[in-house]
Amino acid sequence: MTARAPGPSSAALPPGQGRPAILILGGTGEARALAEALVAAGRHRVISSLAGRVARPRLPVGEVRIGGFGGPERLAEWLVEQGVHAVVDATHPFAERISASADVACRRAGVPLLRLQRPGWQPADGDDWRWVDDLPAAAALLPEVGRRAFLTTGRQGLAAFAGDASTFFLIRCVDPPEPADLPPRHELLLDRGPYTVDGELTLIDRHRLDVVLTKDSGGPLTAAKLAAARERGLPVIVVRRPSRPAGDEVATAAAAAAWVASVPPR
Ligand code: NAP
Repeated sequence: MTARAPGPSSAALPPGQGRPAILILGGTGEARALAEALVAAGRHRVISSLAGRVARPRLPVGEVRIGGFGGPERLAEWLVEQGVHAVVDATHPFAERISASADVACRRAGVPLLRLQRPGWQPADGDDWRWVDDLPAAAALLPEVGRRAFLTTGRQGLAAFAGDASTFFLIRCVDPPEPADLPPRHELLLDRGPYTVDGELTLIDRHRLDVVLTKDSGGPLTAAKLAAARERGLPVIVVRRPSRPAGDEVATAAAAAAWVASVPPR
């Protein structure tokens, strides 16, 4: 499926028109910022790709396509068909499969690939963070750490907590999870950031939460829960980022835009 969102140069320069195409694998604020910068610069045809997981995604400017490609081989074919000049993988730090797929597809198609990834969070003085490798490890550790958990790890992977009948969970995610994945004692909060420290403190106090669970997503939009946990002296269980294919990487949309500008013509 393709859609076209309004962009600064979209009226003046329709898609194609001889400009080299850039594929941004998106679903993050950094991906939207990069699309905006490249569309504003006007030198490329900018195509953002979304997985289609979220019912009402925030659309980037420029062209948008939605849905999986069908694996690395199909993605490689798509890159060739569309004459893609370079790919920026700006997906979420925990979106492992699409990054692996992009790595294989770009090598196969001979297209340069850049990873745009925001830095992870760092604990500050007074923080009590417990690092774990994945959601099952977080679920295994949880009973030792708290009884009333603020679960902010997203809709996917909630099944790891489904068998925990002793913990109360305040589960916050963007779209409703699968009912079978939900633990017996929970309240569901459908919301999306950015969040404020005051708002997070209100949730912690109202639900008498005593532990926060998060992925190391990084970035400012969802970091308020960490400051709120610090303020209330709560432990935080933090899921480490998965490893990534080796390759060129930058941390900001501006750096990614500069990389795109530096890719030589094909
Ligand atoms: P994933 O496990 O890495 O991807 C699963 C499959 O979904 C991929 O193999 C691919 O299908 C498709 N896909 C994923 N991202 C895509 C994209 N940007 N464009 C086209 N197809 C995509 O990813 P996920 O963890 O389900 O995350 C899905 C999307 O949500 C990502 O784009 C990510 O940036 C965003 N997101 C994820 C998280 C998180 O915690 N995982 C949080 C916030 C946002 P094919 O193999 O068929 O190509």
